[in-house]
Order: sequence, then structure tokens, then C-alpha cells
Amino acid sequence: MKQKCVFLDRDGVLNQDIEGYLSQPEDMIIPNGVVEGLQQMKNAGYLLIVVTNQAGIAKGLYSKEEVWKCHRYFQEQCGHLLDDLYYCSHHPDYDSRSLMRKPESLMLEKAIAKYDIDTTNSWMVGDRPRDMQAGKRVGVRTIHLSHNPQESAGDNFASNFLAATQLVLESNR
Ligand SMILES: [Mg+2]
Repeated sequence: MKQKCVFLDRDGVLNQDIEGYLSQPEDMIIPNGVVEGLQQMKNAGYLLIVVTNQAGIAKGLYSKEEVWKCHRYFQEQCGHLLDDLYYCSHHPDYDSRSLMRKPESLMLEKAIAKYDIDTTNSWMVGDRPRDMQAGKRVGVRTIHLSHNPQESAGDNFASNFLAATQLVLESNR
């Protein structure tokens, strides 16, 4: 049977965004409600898969290993609720263009193939228009997390992670 999934942007969604690039676990601040929301979505049967642009690698600011170190830290903090992580290390101005880099959708497409995901019952949660574009390209429903409803570029808007979780769970009834 096909699986349903919530695709998750990392910075600005799972952890607070910071100035510049986040590459160290100690800089990962997880907002209230994120772990609770992930648990609720997991309980409802969703795969939870992170799709994150990490062009800091192309810029030489940190390594792939540091991306995994941050991922392992987050997994410890949330009780290993995440099913997978896809990241794009590329940047067109530094190494190469990549169909992985959001707003392109190859990270999501890879996961959809690997996990046999039903896109009609799946979601993308992100804090940038490019997250919404990547989700729309593969036909999942999109939720724009933002403090400003007017900048919403998604099918839906949520002001915090638990509100996004509610949108997902309501659709699941
Ligand atoms: Mg983000």
C-alpha cells in the first residue's frame, strides 16, 4: 500500500532559522510544539521526511558530516521520529545547478519513489516560497509556515508548527 508523507523543510520549520548558515547542533533551537506536532503526525501514520537546501556545503562553510551531525542531534531531541533526510549541497553560483535544490523537486521525487508515497495524501511544510514550489511540482498539498499570512505562497498557511499539524490531521479524518 502506498504511504502518506509530510515533507519538512528544516531551517525555519524544525529549528529556528539563524543569521547565516546553521551547521552546529548547539545552534539548533527547536520551537515549542515541533516535537509534539511530529509525534501527532507520526501517530496518524505519516512518514516524516526532511528535504533541505544546504548550499553552505557548496560555499565551503561546513561539511556533509556536519549536516548529518545536526540531523542526529535533532533525532535524539525528538525521539527519532524522522524517517529520512534529503539535502542538496549545491548552489548554482558555487559549484553547479541541481534539480535537487528547491524550488526544484528532485529530493521529493527520490523519496516518493523510494517510499512509494501517495502524493495526493501528502504534504510539504516550509517557510519559504521555494518550499511551496517544490511541493506543488510533485502534487502534494503545501503549508506555508510564516508569521505573516500575506506572504503565504502555499495552499495553506500556518503561524506555527502545531497549527500546521492540525491542518494535516484534519485532512486525514
Ligand atoms: Mg527554511
